[in-house]
Amino acid sequence: MALRLYNSMSRSKQDFKPISDQNVRMYVCGPTVYDYAHIGNARPAVVFDVLFRLLRQIYGKDHVTYVRNITDVDDKINKRAAEEGVEIAELTAKTTAQYHADMDALGVLRPTIEPRATEHIAQMIAMIEKLIDAGYAYCEQRHVLFHVPAMPDYGKLSGRSLDEMQAGARIEIAPYKRDPMDFVLWKPSIGVQPGWDSPWGRGRPGWHIECSAMSEHHLGETFDIHGGGIDLIFPHHENEIAQSTCAHGGKVMANYWIHNGYLQVEGEKMSKSLGNFITVHDLLDQWPGEAIRLAILMTHYRQPLNWTQKGLEEAAKIARRWEALTFGFKASPKPLPEDHPVMVALMDDLNTPAAISALHALSKQAQNSQAARAEMLAALILLGLAKDPVERAEETRAMIAEQAAEMGQAYKAIRKYAKTPLPGRDAKHVLSLISADELNALIEARLAARAAKDWAEADRIRDQLAKLGIALKDSPSGTEWELRR
Ligand SMILES: [Zn+2]
Repeated sequence: MALRLYNSMSRSKQDFKPISDQNVRMYVCGPTVYDYAHIGNARPAVVFDVLFRLLRQIYGKDHVTYVRNITDVDDKINKRAAEEGVEIAELTAKTTAQYHADMDALGVLRPTIEPRATEHIAQMIAMIEKLIDAGYAYCEQRHVLFHVPAMPDYGKLSGRSLDEMQAGARIEIAPYKRDPMDFVLWKPSIGVQPGWDSPWGRGRPGWHIECSAMSEHHLGETFDIHGGGIDLIFPHHENEIAQSTCAHGGKVMANYWIHNGYLQVEGEKMSKSLGNFITVHDLLDQWPGEAIRLAILMTHYRQPLNWTQKGLEEAAKIARRWEALTFGFKASPKPLPEDHPVMVALMDDLNTPAAISALHALSKQAQNSQAARAEMLAALILLGLAKDPVERAEETRAMIAEQAAEMGQAYKAIRKYAKTPLPGRDAKHVLSLISADELNALIEARLAARAAKDWAEADRIRDQLAKLGIALKDSPSGTEWELRR
């Protein structure tokens, strides 16, 4: 069975045939790092993560290269850094770290390569020089512009004529432009603006050239899949295609163009002015990452996603039920066979709603079938809604070791009566409420009270700790504490 994907370029579902099944190559436009990721940024990250996982399952983990860039030079970044009075590098480093933490919590795997724009300026300059030499670009008043009329089939992806595009877009009229559609490849930097030396003076790249240069550098002139949100088709992706095709003697940039649909919040456009702007960071304060991810995947990636509180609550309930059904596995489940209903759904243009229906059916059988529970777990791992038990155990071990090293004696002390394993963040949280010595002394006092059959005192200590969110569990082997969830 072939993977079928909707290709925006051909406007049809096609069998996916990679250039080489030894190295399937995908590029997705990544975030511009100046603010917390919002739910509209999370959608492509999650959607293309599902595709990445599926490709790894089909072609093998080591035979897929996924590149998702970080745009760390942009006028929005300069503006925000100036507003906050911080260095640009500090803002982009902080925002990148936040983006990673948020996406990790949503179960989004890190891409194979995550290139930063500022580390590829030389490649951008080289590509711009090629475009000038070949007659597609010109320098005017220290700006370098791509001359759109020089490319006869500009606009193939959106399928619109130049006139239509010109009418529909807000096009900046500037004295250095030969044609209103021409777009910036390089612009001059003045004063504190970040800038690099170039044949056209000190300046910085336009946004579109970043992706063309980074995809060429890491994936070659022609690669398999280029992805992003539907709002990027014009002008960003049209301009990427123009730059790459013209710099590469007419070669196709990517064989499959995949776009996820728009996002709305409670039926309205999400915007700061409407006050319905939802960041992943805020959502994660209240909801598990699996619930947020499931709420995204309940809508097919090409459909508009209407983000609602009700939908999220529903997703959280389902995610909890599925987690309970698949809890306790120690070994990795067998990957799903190709004819499994969940695989069949995903192979058909990533039909996640159909995969979720198949999971509902499976969850009924899973009530009394260990085999069905294992299948469920395999499906949840493939969808990024659960972690592989072996990988999770390794991560927990590594995390404990790291936290133990960082917290030293305090960590050792707090583990005395803790339920094992004790994640470092739980230890840190408890230590912010009570010292390890006090906690251990209280547990020992309660054990002594129980031995003396002083039940009132034993209960008083239990309640005192319960108020801090620390639950005590008695068993024949002793007393342990754990954080109440
Ligand atoms: Zn891009």
